[in-house]
Amino acid sequence: MRRPLIAANWKMFLTPDEGVSLVKSVMAANVDYAKVDVLVSPSFTSLYAVFNAVKVAGKPVSVAAQNICAEDEGAFTGEVSLQMVKGCGAGAVILGHSERRNIFSESDELINKKAIKVLSGGLTALLCVGELLNERESGKADAVVVAQLDKNLKGVKDLSKVVIAYEPVWAIGTGKTATPADAEAMHKTIRTFIGSTYGVAVADNLRILYGGSVKPDNISMLMKEPDIDGALVGGASLKADQFLKIINY
Ligand code: PGA
Repeated sequence: MRRPLIAANWKMFLTPDEGVSLVKSVMAANVDYAKVDVLVSPSFTSLYAVFNAVKVAGKPVSVAAQNICAEDEGAFTGEVSLQMVKGCGAGAVILGHSERRNIFSESDELINKKAIKVLSGGLTALLCVGELLNERESGKADAVVVAQLDKNLKGVKDLSKVVIAYEPVWAIGTGKTATPADAEAMHKTIRTFIGSTYGVAVADNLRILYGGSVKPDNISMLMKEPDIDGALVGGASLKADQFLKIINY
C-alpha cells in the first residue's frame, strides 16, 4: 500500500546554516524510516548545503526544491533551472503552491510546463492544488481542484513520480485546518478523478498529502483517513521538535 510521506516546506525561511542545523536536529532523532518517508524543501540557497548534510548523515531524507523555472537555461535573470536544483541534490520539486499561484500569478499552463520539465528530468513533482475560501463557500471546491489537476497534468502520461498535495488556501498559515472529514472528501474526489483518467491501479498508488496548518495535535486524526497519505507542512516544519512529532504521528 501507499507509504506515508511527511514533507516540510520551509518557504522563504532559514539561511543555509539554519537549514543545516534544522535538518541535523531532525536526523538526530529517532524516526522509523521503514514506516514513513521524510522530505524537506529548503530555499534554493540552502538546497546544496542541506543535501550535503543529509548525505553525510546517510539518512533516507529526501530534499526538494520549492520551484523551478520552466525554461532550461538562458537570459532569465533571477531564475533557477531544473538542472541547477538537480545538481544541488534535489530529488523533487514542489509545483503549483498556492503562494506561487496567487502571489506570483503562476497560471495552470505554466505549472503544467514545469511539471513536464520536472518529470522528464526524472525528478518527482509534488503538485499542490486547492481552493480559495470563497470557492469553498460557493460550493465550487471540487470543481476548482479537479480543473487544476486536469490542466496541470495535461500531457503527463506516467504518475509514478507524481505526488499530489491538497492544500485548501484558506487553511495555509491560518491555524484553520480542514476537518479530517472534509480533507478526506477532497482526497477521495482527487483519487476518483485520477482513477477516471489514469485507471484505478494508478489512483490507488498515488500519494495524496494534506497541507494547511498541519500541527502535532491534528496530524494523527488526519492520518486516520484512508485517502490521506501524508502531509505537506509549512510553519510547523521549521521547529525540529514539532516536525518530529508530525513525522512520528
Ligand atoms: P502551513 O503551510 O503548514 O504553514 O499552513 C502549508 C504549506 O503552505 O505547504
